[in-house]
Amino acid sequence: MDLFEQVWRQVVKAREVLPPFEQNLVERLRFPERIIEVAVPVQMDGGRTKVFKGWRVQHNSLLGPYKGGIRFHAKVDLEEIKGLALLMTLKNAVVGLPFGGAKGGVEVDPKRLSRDELERLSRIYLHKIVRFIGPNLDIPAPDVNTNPQVMAWMLDEYEKFVGEKAPAAVTGKPLELGGSPLREVATGLGGKMILDEVIKRMRGKKPEVTVAVQGFGNVGANFARLAYQDGYKIIALSDSRGGVYKEKGLDPNEIYDCKAAGGTVAGCYLKGTMTAAKNKGVKVIDNEELLALKVDVLVPAALETVINGRNARNVKAKIVLELANGPLTEEAGRILAEKRTLVVPDILTNAGGVVVSYFEWGQGRLGWPLEEDEAFDRLKKLMVGAFKNVWEASQEKKIDLKTAVYGLALSRIVQVAKWQGMIG
Ligand code: NAD
Repeated sequence: MDLFEQVWRQVVKAREVLPPFEQNLVERLRFPERIIEVAVPVQMDGGRTKVFKGWRVQHNSLLGPYKGGIRFHAKVDLEEIKGLALLMTLKNAVVGLPFGGAKGGVEVDPKRLSRDELERLSRIYLHKIVRFIGPNLDIPAPDVNTNPQVMAWMLDEYEKFVGEKAPAAVTGKPLELGGSPLREVATGLGGKMILDEVIKRMRGKKPEVTVAVQGFGNVGANFARLAYQDGYKIIALSDSRGGVYKEKGLDPNEIYDCKAAGGTVAGCYLKGTMTAAKNKGVKVIDNEELLALKVDVLVPAALETVINGRNARNVKAKIVLELANGPLTEEAGRILAEKRTLVVPDILTNAGGVVVSYFEWGQGRLGWPLEEDEAFDRLKKLMVGAFKNVWEASQEKKIDLKTAVYGLALSRIVQVAKWQGMIG
């Protein structure tokens, strides 16, 4: 089952919490409002032209202009982008942002491109969708394998097209182009804020909370560093090429710079510790082993559907904090519910990125930047506020957190659909 269908099934389950008339309005989310499919021809360094497939899916705009990231990945396809766009519609609603949902992507392995090829790809893709985006229409941001540099190229391409400066057209930009000081760490930071709230509410709280993190990119690495800084014990880390485990705890900072320079998590950690006494007890593990570790908190922060019907029974964590988008299949969700594992849903835990993007969009429109501490306080207020609403709904109605989160998102969207009527 593809990601869109997986998410849609959860929507269908959660709409039961709405009154009957409102349940019907949820049908407005069944199909994306617009799907743009483009050819992205790129002249490679040797002179030959290669054509890549790209998409922008604008799922729903009831709450505001479309908003969502752009991903470059060898395995991305339309069904995945549709699923991610639906998740964006729900995520923006949960945290109360005035945005609809969208997602974009190009089927490409960016690691095989030179810097010049990557720049041409970013600019041409943007050029192909340029008539469908803008500060009041659809605002792209980074996602897997895209970063502030890619956003800078895309913004430049947009501004050339409209013939004026338009800093609110793209978020996740470098600071010098009107980016937000918190955007780089925002998704990991928001996830850490949610984990703090969960841990506060768990009975039998231990002084030391053990954590395993899958994925060491923007989201996983920043989450791990912030959690480590606040005293969580990080016992395992990984990337696409495997990971490391140490019962006594790892310091993610020891890996960060080396990994950013192109190393692997395991290679970087061992390089830094091989000759030191502290490498005692370090084990190289693969990603399946990481998911099956006996830890308090498992944090999938890489890609979707990594926990599925095949491996969900192996999960021993008490809490699964979904930081990637859609890391659990529907079947995995059911298996974990039977095991009474607390699953904290993605559209809440990883909303920090889009929340800070919202601040960046606002400052681009007003020309009035938020200081880092103001952005931090406002992020915390929104994340913790959304978490409290969800937690209380889950306790009151005796429903799982995912149903409560989706229910809250759907009720916000439906309120707007009611004002608009059925002929939207
Ligand atoms: P990224 O490209 O910066 O990093 C991805 C990481 O996952 C890398 O370390 C990579 O090696 C690792 N990885 C890839 N395949 C893997 C596999 N099979 N097993 C283990 N590790 C694997 O991407 P990111 O921006 O950190 O995004 C990660 C997830 O978080 C995605 O699901 C993305 O949609 C979601 N997300 C990102 C943001 C954001 O602000 N960047 C916001 C919300 C959600």
